Amino acid sequence: MSKYIFITGGVVSSLGKGISGASIGKLLQLHGFKVNMIKFDPYINVDPGTMNPYQHGEVFVTIDGAEADLDLGTYERFLDVYTSKANTNTSGDIYRTVIDRERSGYYNGATVQVIPHITDEIKRRFLALKDKCDISIIEIGGTVGDIEGLPFMEAARQFQLENKKEDIFSIHVTLVPYIAGAHELKTKPTQHSVNKLREIGISPDMIICRTEHHLDKSLKKKIALFCNVREDCVVDAMDAHSIYYIPEAFYNQKVDTIVMEKLKIKPKMKFDKAWFVKIKSFGKFSVVVKVAVVGKYADLKDAYKSIDESLNIAAAALKAKAEINYLDAENKGLLGKLKDYDAILVPGGFGNRGVEGKIRAITDARENKIPFLGICLGMQCSVIEVARNLANLKDANSMEFCEATKHPVIKILDEQKNVKYVGGTMRLGSYKSQLRKNTLAHKLYKSLEIEERHRHRYEVNPEFVELLKKVGLYISAYHKDVLPEIIEMKNHPFFIGVQFHPEFGSRPMRPHPLFKGFINVALLNKKKQQ
Ligand code: GLN
Repeated sequence: MSKYIFITGGVVSSLGKGISGASIGKLLQLHGFKVNMIKFDPYINVDPGTMNPYQHGEVFVTIDGAEADLDLGTYERFLDVYTSKANTNTSGDIYRTVIDRERSGYYNGATVQVIPHITDEIKRRFLALKDKCDISIIEIGGTVGDIEGLPFMEAARQFQLENKKEDIFSIHVTLVPYIAGAHELKTKPTQHSVNKLREIGISPDMIICRTEHHLDKSLKKKIALFCNVREDCVVDAMDAHSIYYIPEAFYNQKVDTIVMEKLKIKPKMKFDKAWFVKIKSFGKFSVVVKVAVVGKYADLKDAYKSIDESLNIAAAALKAKAEINYLDAENKGLLGKLKDYDAILVPGGFGNRGVEGKIRAITDARENKIPFLGICLGMQCSVIEVARNLANLKDANSMEFCEATKHPVIKILDEQKNVKYVGGTMRLGSYKSQLRKNTLAHKLYKSLEIEERHRHRYEVNPEFVELLKKVGLYISAYHKDVLPEIIEMKNHPFFIGVQFHPEFGSRPMRPHPLFKGFINVALLNKKKQQ
């Protein structure tokens, strides 16, 4: 069985097409289907790995090492699946494939064109997961009407024509804005957006309306009439307190039944509502834990999307609520602010802006025994901090920030020395590491071997490990006995730095052990102080 659900968006961007798709995917999963999602982004970058987080938010890393859109994180967390290179596509990558083929003579003298060559390649990629799941949900990034999105829409139109009606379900996600002055929800932008889509040749089976207020029956009727869909196929997607409540909101509007009806599929098992119940239970908490995330993109939560999710998930599993504040590492008053927090996290990053602030925050966490979690650059900063302040190597630094430093405690990975292109060339994806017995990391993971995702060019310099050990820094995990993967500090309730990105491994039902341990110690500390 191979069924396809297409998700397009209209009116404005950032409507949560990924969350809508993943919510429907979740419902279908709870009916027993194997579901996965594929993202198509219309920009020319080959992947978002080289993009500034201000442009794109977090770069998500798949286990097989693709640098991808943050929506893949949403797919993984909602569906508890693993995504791969096959789940992420961009115009740049698609054009590159076609142009490489052209250069190799593959097209045998033909003029290579958007239609059919680019659209054929897009259609080929629509099929990427067909043998691995029952239903592929295909999210087309951008907004209908964008010039750069046209080849994807055209490919979706052709795909629809070339396949059976019952194999494809098309969903359009739009905005129904509320005009406060008139106390009215407006359907006109949705009408225009659907018209635009129909001009291209795609008539949606369902319209998901993002709205701040519930759509009443008459409004649904109006949208249905003007947009050529059944009234029950106009779905109210009101802003929710938690994104994980959306599957239930869709279930209550029978979205899953409508989709299965058109796709002519029957549930494979009795619908399991336990997921809804468990998700709801996360909303109940008795204590708040305040976490400071000290980074470069303090005003852009999306830059740290998976970290945010991981902290929330871990806190919820411990019947607590994480109050997360993103503090600018460059802010002069940073240290004064840190006093109010139960835990400090320094996330990954590139470039030296804010690094000194991050190091100061780590000194604060270390000296005042505040639980600390350093991720990738955050871990590297903690090694610099310990080297400077405990091992007395005053100019200790990373070669990323000062190539000439006398004490390069963080050095470039050997495999990275001759890398010329910046895109897609880091140490990327899942690697195994072996944990040392009786360390905090071992206690938390409850395993001696772990596999986590990486995205970096630098590493802890093994030449300094013995010296750092003497001042209390311990390497609690290595990759193949050579590459330090986890560091921890003795005589501290929770001081852990990891070279990898544990945040990509959190799931609502399976909090990541490092995040859970981190929040747990913060809660215990808090209790002690009360
Ligand atoms: N800039 C550092 C490196 O390349 C850390 C990368 C990261 O935090 N993802 O090693």
